[in-house]
Amino acid sequence: MHQKNLWQDNSKEKITFSNLKKSITTDLVIIGGGFTGCSAALSAAKNGLSVTLIDQKIGYGGSGRNVGLVNAGLWMHPEKVESILGLAAGVKLNKALATAPDLVFSLIDSYEINCSANRSGTLHCAHSEKGLKDIQLRFKQLSERGAELELFDRQQTQQRTGSSKFFGSLFNKKAGIINPLDYCLGLARAAKSYGVNIYESTIATNIQSINNDWLIKTAEGTIKAKMLLIATNAYQKPIEGLNPSKYTSVQYFQVATKSLPSDLVKSVLPNGEGCWDTASVMSSFRLDADNRLIIGGIGNLGHSASKIHTNWARRKIESLFPHLKNIDIEFCWHGRIAMTGDHIPKILRLGSNAYSVFGYSGRGIGPGTYFGKAVSECLISGDETSLPVDPLDYYQEPFSKIKAGFIEFGATAIHLL
Ligand SMILES: Cc1cc2nc3c(=O)[nH]c(=O)nc-3n(C[C@H](O)[C@H](O)[C@H](O)COP(=O)(O)OP(=O)(O)OC[C@H]3O[C@@H](n4cnc5c(N)ncnc54)[C@H](O)[C@@H]3O)c2cc1C
Repeated sequence: MHQKNLWQDNSKEKITFSNLKKSITTDLVIIGGGFTGCSAALSAAKNGLSVTLIDQKIGYGGSGRNVGLVNAGLWMHPEKVESILGLAAGVKLNKALATAPDLVFSLIDSYEINCSANRSGTLHCAHSEKGLKDIQLRFKQLSERGAELELFDRQQTQQRTGSSKFFGSLFNKKAGIINPLDYCLGLARAAKSYGVNIYESTIATNIQSINNDWLIKTAEGTIKAKMLLIATNAYQKPIEGLNPSKYTSVQYFQVATKSLPSDLVKSVLPNGEGCWDTASVMSSFRLDADNRLIIGGIGNLGHSASKIHTNWARRKIESLFPHLKNIDIEFCWHGRIAMTGDHIPKILRLGSNAYSVFGYSGRGIGPGTYFGKAVSECLISGDETSLPVDPLDYYQEPFSKIKAGFIEFGATAIHLL
């Protein structure tokens, strides 16, 4: 099946930028125009910096390809985050990311971002008895930390999703769904309104640090800046003078059906929640603003066996919603997730006034927006204690290629069944 990204096809925040063809000087240069880079640019410009942001295309990376689930926290249980980072640092990160959906939806409201935002909550659906125990434990841990959640039983979950397949679900009413590409483009539009210079078709090819300045070379221009943010996450193109970010690349794909016929619209997710399940090879489902059903799962659509994934998606639709058997699929696309060994995002110090941020491990709408803003504030204040995680001078991700191959092989094998 020919790949076509639903978010690109249906984008409402249409905004484009020309490429850089001169030498410029700026306070802060940002490489990468996803959630992280655009959020950082907006925040820095609001705080008075002159900012230049470059990318081949705003939203080209994960930000323009993702599911659109605006979640609080990370994928992991909060207690796990605290055990990995230590109590104080774990509590700090958990607290920061618990507020991330508020930040995202307030930016959408403030800048009237046209991204089909629907804050009707998310459902983490238990696919098995074991999955039910998992969401019960999450409910306990998150509630103890102040989250307002509800546990739904099998029947309530069926009413909410329209599917009888789940053993229960965890409802977060403060979360929601968006068209992720339009959210990213809207952030770029807002950043531009504060004077950020944005250049597309502009790739950083070389970085040098000269006398406390950063010098970035692109094909037809140069940028000199006091401060630097690398926000390239899983889509980093090689840049001479910069060590590549270290993460395991995990592929996630989605298919979208044609709009559900009007008599079936209320039969699937009548309240419009965004959903994902507890399976270790996870899947997600949601509706878009035109009532297309979007199903996603781990897998790469770029290899010769990728039909296994799209065939699985058809079977998954039928298994969850038998009455949608044979519904046409109009879109399919995939993207790369930057996974770190401990699933905690990383902030790397690159030198004087320079950071790289990556490794959201599949949850980057809230975290990317939050980390981008936090890093830009830290660049201005010089206060690293305000960052959601302690910055590192060095990060290594051993065996990342082997891990990536293993995950893709495992997902393909499971999707064959
Ligand atoms: C299929 C999929 C589904 C996902 N679903 C969700 C979800 O539902 N909810 C959620 O919270 N998260 C989700 N995520 C994760 C989320 O999308 C990412 O964590 C997030 O987009 C990362 O944002 P970013 O700005 O850091 O990086 P990106 O959006 O990847 O942006 C990086 C940018 O850097 C640019 N770049 C790279 N190299 C250079 C260079 N040399 N010069 C100039 N520019 C360069 C790239 O072109 C790219 O646009 C999903 C990810 C994928 C792939």
